[in-house]
Amino acid sequence: METPDPASFDGLDDLDTAPVADAPKTFLDAQAKAAATVAPVTCYACRGTGTFVSKFTGRPVGRCFTCKGTGQIAARTAKAHATKKANESAALKAQADWGAAHSDVLAWVRSNDGRNSFATSLSNQLGSRGTLSERQVAAVREGLAKLARAVIAAEPSGTGLDLSKLPEGYYAVPQGDTRLKVRIDKPGPPSKWAGFIFVSDGAEYGQAKRYGRQAPGRTYTGDIVPQLRAILADPVAACAAYGHLVGRCGVCGRKLEDAESVARGIGPICFGKFA
Ligand SMILES: [Zn+2]
Ligand SMILES: [Zn+2]
Repeated sequence: METPDPASFDGLDDLDTAPVADAPKTFLDAQAKAAATVAPVTCYACRGTGTFVSKFTGRPVGRCFTCKGTGQIAARTAKAHATKKANESAALKAQADWGAAHSDVLAWVRSNDGRNSFATSLSNQLGSRGTLSERQVAAVREGLAKLARAVIAAEPSGTGLDLSKLPEGYYAVPQGDTRLKVRIDKPGPPSKWAGFIFVSDGAEYGQAKRYGRQAPGRTYTGDIVPQLRAILADPVAACAAYGHLVGRCGVCGRKLEDAESVARGIGPICFGKFA
């Protein structure tokens, strides 16, 4: 192998130091150059107007901060912004889904926040992370179930009357000589009374007097037992009796308008619920 003549390398020194037109000097420069080669796109913040418009007054208040008033931003910036927005909305949706699936737990935490140290710590965690662990959820649900069992155990013995088949709504006594109106409430979750049946006065301007209630798995405890027995014997007729007294559907509260509904005493859709 021949030793290269050092003289033939002379020119290389010049090449090393000679400025190469347009060559990026640093990594950041290279990035900026790459971004510049992609055509800029419309600014997401001002929709290309270059002007910042107040969300409160709808009036332009100055130069758009995002695009510095040019109305255009690098495609890369727009893409990063879109990705960030998509991630944010996915996170929000996940949190909303979690909340919907754990509304009983959230309701307990909310109503006991600041009154109970466990609830307060869970509330703080919800504030920072948005969700709770499955273990925490199980602990709350176990406590709620225990509470519900205690409430039911404390119920006085029932009258033997079972209202569980009676749909929620307003009733009067069929063929009754009384103008008594009865309201049946059946709260669902996340209410701590879910599964209970409440009987109260259904008069429009009444005092909403409570007659009694039925705990899950028990029978009714309270007043107006003979009237409830008559209602239970024919719920459709009882609901219709209410409709005839008041002129409104006992199930949904809508005004009875067409002749058929007025005659029947129940609205057409709600009538089907008794089938
Ligand atoms: Zn802009
Ligand atoms: Zn109705």
